[in-house]
Amino acid sequence: VAVGHRIVQGGKYFDGPALVTDEVRDLIEQLCPMAPLHNPAHLKGIDVARELMPDIPHVAVFDTAFFQQLPEKTSTYALNAEVAEKYAVRRYGAHGTSHQFVSREVAKLLGRDDLKQIVMHLGNGASVSAVKDGKPIDTSMGLTPLEGLMMGSRTGDIDPAVVFHLARQAGMSIDEIDHLFNKESGMKGLTGETDMRSVWGLIGNDEDPETQAKARVAMDIYINRLLKYVGSYTAELGGLDVITFTAGIGENDWRVRRELAEALEPFGVKIDVEKNEGRIGEPRVVSTPDSKVLLLVYPTNEELAIARQALTLL
Ligand code: AMP
Repeated sequence: VAVGHRIVQGGKYFDGPALVTDEVRDLIEQLCPMAPLHNPAHLKGIDVARELMPDIPHVAVFDTAFFQQLPEKTSTYALNAEVAEKYAVRRYGAHGTSHQFVSREVAKLLGRDDLKQIVMHLGNGASVSAVKDGKPIDTSMGLTPLEGLMMGSRTGDIDPAVVFHLARQAGMSIDEIDHLFNKESGMKGLTGETDMRSVWGLIGNDEDPETQAKARVAMDIYINRLLKYVGSYTAELGGLDVITFTAGIGENDWRVRRELAEALEPFGVKIDVEKNEGRIGEPRVVSTPDSKVLLLVYPTNEELAIARQALTLL
């Protein structure tokens, strides 16, 4: 019927799905500098699929589209306005298709449109969003997917002056620093492992106390970053009804969910330890009935969301 293409960076041009025309293809190409790992690969996919299936419509679905609705106060950096305008520097967010899908499914599940939600998309790349009455009001990724949470190999939030420092003191080039922040940092940079299962393995290994201690600190940094975002987003939302965990870590890593929930105990958040460790692969509540905030696990399904958006557009 149609081909839905996932596109990471749609810049300021797309606030929803778009039929792939030559003009749309050109815009995706123009945006390559803002998603150098992703948009060029998407273009290959589009070109090959259009060649193989020339008679059916192709639809581009953008990871940034949902967050085009962010209010200016959270989408704008306090950067010189002229420079920001000239070079299209703003917070675009990412994983929008997932945040939109999950927040809508949660609203449907709970039968309420007026929810104050935090969605945690915790995969190898990880982002968190605050969604109020179905609209995003803040998200952790910025101009690129580097900002925000600590990730498998990305720093997440870091003082931008670290860039100046490394350039001046270590003589590193911009490309080297880009590689360091995106590919050699985060969990990998602190423990040598990107996969959370391996990091928990290090934490559980009493035979190597030095590595064990380093891995524990890395996990503490990871959880603390989640905690900070829950705190700030709860304040921005003016309260909190539900935290939903999704993606590889969010859906599968019960220890991460539990450690975060335990840190939130002073605010009336209570996790049901058994339910939290229970079956995987389907939506479920993992908080206790008297928890002040509902904790949910909801498997994301970006393919379904892309297919739905493609059909809706057509
Ligand atoms: P994603 O990018 O959403 O595919 O998530 C991939 C990441 O999820 C992996 O790098 C792991 O860190 C994590 N992950 C996947 N399965 C598990 C599991 N059973 N327990 C803990 N972490 C997991």
